Amino acid sequence: QVVNYAPLTLLPSAVPSALFEQAYAVQQDFNLLVDAISQNKEFLEHTLASTIKVDDFTAQLFRIHMQVLEEGLAQSVFLGINRSDYMFDCGVDGTPALKQIEINTIAASFGGLTSRTAVVHGRVLKVLGKSKEASRLLPNNPSKGLALGIAKAWELYGSQSAVVMFLVEEVQRNIFDQRCVENELWNRNIRVIRKRFRDVFEKGSLDDAKRLYMDGQEVAVVYYREGYVPKNYDQQNWEARLLLERSRAVKCPDIATQLAGTKKVQQELSQPGMLERLLPGRAEAVTRIRATFAGLYSLDVGEEGDKIAAMAIADPDRFWLKPQREGGGNNLYGEELRQVLEKIRDSPERTSYILMDKIKPQPSMNYLLRAHSPLQVSECISELGIFGVYVRQGKEMVMNEVAGHLLRTKAIEHADGGVAAGVAVLDTPYLV
Ligand code: ADP
Ligand code: MG
Repeated sequence: QVVNYAPLTLLPSAVPSALFEQAYAVQQDFNLLVDAISQNKEFLEHTLASTIKVDDFTAQLFRIHMQVLEEGLAQSVFLGINRSDYMFDCGVDGTPALKQIEINTIAASFGGLTSRTAVVHGRVLKVLGKSKEASRLLPNNPSKGLALGIAKAWELYGSQSAVVMFLVEEVQRNIFDQRCVENELWNRNIRVIRKRFRDVFEKGSLDDAKRLYMDGQEVAVVYYREGYVPKNYDQQNWEARLLLERSRAVKCPDIATQLAGTKKVQQELSQPGMLERLLPGRAEAVTRIRATFAGLYSLDVGEEGDKIAAMAIADPDRFWLKPQREGGGNNLYGEELRQVLEKIRDSPERTSYILMDKIKPQPSMNYLLRAHSPLQVSECISELGIFGVYVRQGKEMVMNEVAGHLLRTKAIEHADGGVAAGVAVLDTPYLV
């Protein structure tokens, strides 16, 4: 066993306060939007139609989604924990704008570890004789907000003796992040168990009322910290996933909400009139959400898609190419984007990707501290994430909250990839 410290910057990074506030202000809108998409069978069906023809992973998720709908949902309580990620795009006149990178609707991580980074950075600033600056760092504890959402869902499930199950990875590299949320639950006298898909396959069962049992313990809430990439699944794990989705346990997220976080849905949302259709009567929310969108383009088969592909091949540095994957390290840009798109431009395979305008933040200097890495100053860019938590019971939203933030920073030469991918490190915003 090897224990390392979580990678982090030496110093907090400057973040424009207006954009920080804008990101907070739009989060409850995004909670409503994700929830609305998850309930809209026609939207998901229509939006993912071309994708599931070519992307097996999305297709398998979609099949389970359809199967549980046909069978009838066993639970009317829904718990969403998401993280909307942004970068600060530098316009031609140098004014930064908040642009959404993506929204993560399953296993959005680092709400726990990031609850500690402001304390570390505060200490560093004090050591440097900058106590005034240290006192300006914002307190931040997403793990508490996440736990309050899970606790609410557990309470609505309505069984004192039922447990919360964290569904965790086979190799648990990020356990301490998860423990922060877990501890908040134990502090509220809610029991937590940690299980893998394999355990569910071997020991999980449903009773006649579709109550989920693990080793004889009733499970009220399943909190996925796994299950978002193809490599998390073999045949048995897919069966375990189906069992969980069919069960009466509250799923965080349910499979429809996971599908709402696909890149294809992200692209479809930018179509004219789409947000209005999904959020009727919420014009202000629509305006706030749309203001964060970068240009997004479909590569679906047809004339429009042909034009978009040609445009990206001619000018690859303006774009970013994304497959339906999570976890970092899957996107294509620059010369690689051009080569791949050239190869697949006449094949339906291109519909497994979406195209996005490249976001160009202003770099700044920092030290990225990572175990076993040399210490050197690097030119860095940051990505701000905002955690959203909501609980719906039937048609009624019983909780819709912003739980806190996460700042991740990486060297500019690593254009793609997150903390788990070994590229980005944890940071703290210093508002300017
Ligand atoms: P994933 O689901 O793999 O995390 P993301 O959409 O978050 O996919 O992309 C991964 C990384 O790629 C981001 O953290 C960001 O650094 C970079 N990235 C994504 N989209 C863009 C974009 N449009 N412009 C510039 N960089 C981007
Ligand atoms: Mg991401």
